[in-house]
Amino acid sequence: MLLRIATTHRPATDLGYLLAKNPARAQSFALSFGTAHVFYPSASDEHCCAALFVDVDPVRLTRRDDDLDIPYVNDRPYVASSFLSVAIAEVYASALQGRSRERQPLADQAIPLVAELPAVVARGGEALLRRLFEPLGYTVTVTDLPLDAQLGFTQARARSVRLAHTTRLVDLLSHLYVLLPVLDDDKHYWVGNDEVEKLLDHGEGWLAEHPERDEIVHRYLRRQRVLAAAALARLVPEAPDAADPLADAQKQQGEDALEERVTLNELRLRAVVEVLREAGVSAVLDVGCGEGRLLRALLGEPRFTRIAGMDVSARALEIAAARLKLDRLPDRKRERISLFHGSLGYRDQRLAGYDAICAVEVIEHLEPSRHAAFERVVFADARPRVVVVTTPNADYNVRFADLPAGKLRHADHRFEWSRAEFAAWAEPLAARYGYALRLVPIGPLDQEVGAPTQMAVFTRAEANA
Ligand code: SAH
Repeated sequence: MLLRIATTHRPATDLGYLLAKNPARAQSFALSFGTAHVFYPSASDEHCCAALFVDVDPVRLTRRDDDLDIPYVNDRPYVASSFLSVAIAEVYASALQGRSRERQPLADQAIPLVAELPAVVARGGEALLRRLFEPLGYTVTVTDLPLDAQLGFTQARARSVRLAHTTRLVDLLSHLYVLLPVLDDDKHYWVGNDEVEKLLDHGEGWLAEHPERDEIVHRYLRRQRVLAAAALARLVPEAPDAADPLADAQKQQGEDALEERVTLNELRLRAVVEVLREAGVSAVLDVGCGEGRLLRALLGEPRFTRIAGMDVSARALEIAAARLKLDRLPDRKRERISLFHGSLGYRDQRLAGYDAICAVEVIEHLEPSRHAAFERVVFADARPRVVVVTTPNADYNVRFADLPAGKLRHADHRFEWSRAEFAAWAEPLAARYGYALRLVPIGPLDQEVGAPTQMAVFTRAEANA
């Protein structure tokens, strides 16, 4: 699948700075589902065009042993789909955030832009394309593809689309990022709770006012009403549709649960893996790895080239080794992973040298008096680029029918933090050690009490620059 973005703003080759991709050089990027290539069919002072070509590898997709909740079946791999959105987020990451190291003023400026998608399927046809893009100011040109007609695709005929508008590049990329999965309205790459955050993040400033807002939210979230209701509640707090997202969600739960039985534990792992993917890390250490669930997910993705698990419990490590079938892994996989015995309470050289450290449902097992040691060991000594911490959200406990008031979810938990308590721990910690902080809910969002799990993503500030 292909996306071309062109400008005539002079010098047009500055598009290369905006996308952080050199017009003089073709580049390739490994994605979890294939390969993306960026090259410039045209690069002069007057006109510059960047092409993003995404080659989905169905074999690689079927080989992954986790994470993808749908078999990848596609009769026309050239048709733009949500994979293209994921590629935009990975390959044009800084541009999608509105950042340009070399040309920030230009990134903040509206310039004439043309995006061309040579093949998209819009369920809703040309009318849908116009309803989605015209309110955002685009001049929309739709052309039928004769080949598709000849092949007999009538229901979901691919069309070529040209979108022209004078706008900031970040706006164009955000619109495409959100609206491409909306167009095909198909099962897409994956939808988890983090996806609500992305929708709200990239929909900021335009989605709340869009005349097709509700349809966009429902389609983007793959018609999962639990998530859509949560997203709408935050987008338009007074919207009638969003008045009681929990009730609405619960009504739907029977149906949704049948459609995808995703446990909270799975959602948590997916959210963590997604953060790691997005941060582009390759060496990951999972502290308090337990029986190795996160390790297993990481091992399924070749991008994680060095994976380690550490735990204070030797028994947990034995189970992890057995579950991961360490003694039977092919050499190439075996070389990527190691397990070691250790404690977060002590300085340890072996924790250094990773891009990311994850502590998934671990902090609540540590006595508060040991937190200072944990913080020093992870943030001062090991100092990875990314730290991910997840922990239960105590505010949510009232929603667990079987949990008596005031009780903790697990006998070994030393405490459970409310959202405010978690923020009060994470914020000063991030500030002290020079990390940017993102707090992300995981699991079905309840308007009043939040989501069952909370996640803090710390990104080292100088690593952002
Ligand atoms: N991360 C795993 C396990 C969570 S349970 C998962 O999400 O499935 C918490 C784990 O933290 C247990 O395996 C426990 O042995 C480990 N743990 C507790 N205190 C620790 C410490 N001081 N250092 C390292 N690991 C610890």
